[in-house]
Amino acid sequence: MSEVVQAIAQGHWTCSKCHVPLEPGKVMVSYLGNSYPVDLLRCPKCGLVLVPEDLALGKMAEVERAVEDK
Ligand SMILES: [Zn+2]
Repeated sequence: MSEVVQAIAQGHWTCSKCHVPLEPGKVMVSYLGNSYPVDLLRCPKCGLVLVPEDLALGKMAEVERAVEDK
């Protein structure tokens, strides 16, 4: 999760709805049938979670692989 830490250090993330700074926190992520806690940035007001690109892209790769198997 070093990429997330770098994103926090480099970027100034704010919620596009509430215009408040996002705060790092543990978020339960479901992935391949398992749930595990991940440190993500989330909005303390509305609960919006910033999903890092590598996490989103990883899910896309899994979906594509599943399609190819059929
Ligand atoms: Zn918000």
